[in-house]
Amino acid sequence: MQHLVDTNDLSDKQIQNIIKDAKRFKKQMPNALLRDKLLITLFFESSTRTRSSFEVAAKRLGASVVHLDPSKSSTNKGESLSDTFANLCAMEPDGVIIRHEYNNTPQKLADKGLTTVINAGAGSYAHPTQALLDYFTMLEQFGDVRGKTIAIVGDIISSRVASSGIRLFKRMGMNIVLVAPKPFMPDMDLPKYEKLDDIIDSVDVIMSLRAQLERHKAPIFEDYDEYAKEYCITKERMKDRDILLLHPGPVMRNIDISNEMLEDNRCKVLEQVKNGVFVRMAILKCLLLDS
Ligand code: ASP
Repeated sequence: MQHLVDTNDLSDKQIQNIIKDAKRFKKQMPNALLRDKLLITLFFESSTRTRSSFEVAAKRLGASVVHLDPSKSSTNKGESLSDTFANLCAMEPDGVIIRHEYNNTPQKLADKGLTTVINAGAGSYAHPTQALLDYFTMLEQFGDVRGKTIAIVGDIISSRVASSGIRLFKRMGMNIVLVAPKPFMPDMDLPKYEKLDDIIDSVDVIMSLRAQLERHKAPIFEDYDEYAKEYCITKERMKDRDILLLHPGPVMRNIDISNEMLEDNRCKVLEQVKNGVFVRMAILKCLLLDS
């Protein structure tokens, strides 16, 4: 049984195949490869893109999807997550797609060996499908990402997108630099900058991240303007540099990225969302058919 808790669950060959399949699916929609499969989604945190992207991906491949809304489930009546999961697995789904606030929840559920577990975002630790779709989006642009430099900008310490991305992009031979104010900077052995302007001439990609203030205990900034002055990706900051701009969403307009830059060709935010469906289709194929 193959799980996807983080990208290190996948071999190089599997990642290559996922990229190849996603490319193929983007050119032409495949047949209903997962016609007989049933997936259950279990999202304990809010989601716009990831949940609908998984559903669209599964349905494009002919699979059925059942959503359990945890706020209306028996976890509210005192049932443990582990028991909720075991009960869902008794209905024999082919996989459970889970988002949870704790870093280790998907691994704990995967260790039960009851069904394929797919991590759709866990705590600040991992969001593997986002990392893979970001990698795909960069490959589309560059062909090969080896030796390219990505600056991850913003609330890195809270970001599972950043942590999964860092593990995958390093593995794929990219250089990574971190740009953040001190409270948002993780303790990682990577080049660190407080100002984007100090490194912007050396980067090929900027990944802007949302300030996830809901994950910080103490207030960090007086207001967002103070943060935006340094970290918002604006046209004045980008000038005409040939830099790919990514963001996993949700984007806070004029705080993470300016309105003007969101309209700019270099900004791939909606392309990332589009690619997310093809990459998740390829991931579902890999986990449920090929493994
Ligand atoms: N959508 C992403 C996540 O679930 C990023 C964010 O919430 O800012 O981690």
